[in-house]
Amino acid sequence: MPAPLRLRLDGDALVRNWQTLDRMSGTAACGAAVKANGYGLGATQVAARLATAGCRDFFVSNWQEAAELAPLGLTVSVLHGLRAEDMPAALAGFARPVLNTPAQVARWKGAGGGACDVMVDTGMNRLGVSADDIADGLLDGLAIETVMSHFACADERSPMNAVQRDRFAALSGATGARRMSLANSAGIALGEGYAFDLTRPGLALYGGVPRAEYASRIETVASPEAQVLQCRTVPAGQTVGYNATWTACRDSIVAIVNLGYADGYFRGFSDRGVALVSGNPAPVVGRVSMDLLAIDVTDAGPIAEGEWISLDFDLPTAAASSQMSQYELLTSLGSRYDRFWT
Ligand SMILES: *Cc1c(COP(=O)(O)O)cnc(C)c1O
Repeated sequence: MPAPLRLRLDGDALVRNWQTLDRMSGTAACGAAVKANGYGLGATQVAARLATAGCRDFFVSNWQEAAELAPLGLTVSVLHGLRAEDMPAALAGFARPVLNTPAQVARWKGAGGGACDVMVDTGMNRLGVSADDIADGLLDGLAIETVMSHFACADERSPMNAVQRDRFAALSGATGARRMSLANSAGIALGEGYAFDLTRPGLALYGGVPRAEYASRIETVASPEAQVLQCRTVPAGQTVGYNATWTACRDSIVAIVNLGYADGYFRGFSDRGVALVSGNPAPVVGRVSMDLLAIDVTDAGPIAEGEWISLDFDLPTAAASSQMSQYELLTSLGSRYDRFWT
C-alpha cells in the first residue's frame, strides 16, 4: 500500500552530478561510493543509473552491501575489507576486498585470494596499513588492483591535504597496484594533483556540497514529500505542537503532514524548516514530532487533506538549519518513504 511519505529522487541530477565530478577528476576515472544504501537513496537504483552513465567502480562498506549489488554484475570494492566471517562471500567473487590490516592481508594470502585493493593510512589514523609495513614487504605476492588512501580534512583548507597527497604519491610504484585512488568528493575539488587514477565521490553525487567550489555545480537529488493529514485554522494567540513553542500571531492556516524526526526530518528543523506548497515557501512551525510536523500555509495558498507537500532539502541549507551534517541528513532518510525516481 502506498506510504503517506515519499522521497522524490532526481535520476538526471544524480547522473549530471557524477558527470560533473568525472569532468573535475581530469584524466582520473570517477567511481562512486554507494555505501549505506547509496547514502540513504537506494544503492541498487543509484548504482544501476551511474553504471548506465559510464561509472565503472563502486565502493561499499561491507559484504552485506556488496551482496545486494551482486545481481547488477558491477565492479564493487568492500572498503572494510575482510573479517574471518566474510571469507565465503569474498571468495564467491562478486566484489573485491579492500585490505586494511596486516591480518586481513594474511587472511587473503592464506586463502589464495585473487584481485584485491589495499587501503594505506596516510595520516587519518582510521583504516589502512602503514607505509612502513609496505616497505617491509607486507604486500608482496598480492594481486592489487587499486591502492587507496583517504583524506581527513579535504572539506577544509588544511595543510594536511598536501601532506597526505605527498605521502600517498611517495607510494607510486611501491605497491604493484595497477591504479592509485585518493580523493573523495571534497578531495576532487582540491585539483588535479589530488585525483591520481581513480576518484571515489559519495556525498556530492547525492547533492551534498562539501566545499564552496561545488556550490553552483551540484544539484539536489533527494526531496522528501509528505501528505497532508489535517488542515486547521489556528486562531491568533493559540499555540501549535509539543511544548507549545509556536504561537500564531494572526489567524493562521496550518497543515499537519505525515513526516517527522523518525524519518530523518530532525527536531533541528523545528521553526526553521521550509516546505514548498505549489512552489511557494511555507515555514515549518513548532516542534517537529516523531511522525508529524506542522506547516504554516496561510500565505502559500490553499491545500487540502490528502495533497502532497514537498520539503526544501537543499543540503547545505538544510544542514545549517538543522545543525546536522549533510551526510547525516542523507543517511537518516528512513525506510518509511516510498522512494520514487523521476
Ligand atoms: C565514504 C568514503 C568515500 C566517499 O566520501 P565522500 O566524502 O562522501 O565523497 C570515499 N572513500 C572512502 C574510503 C570512504 O569511506
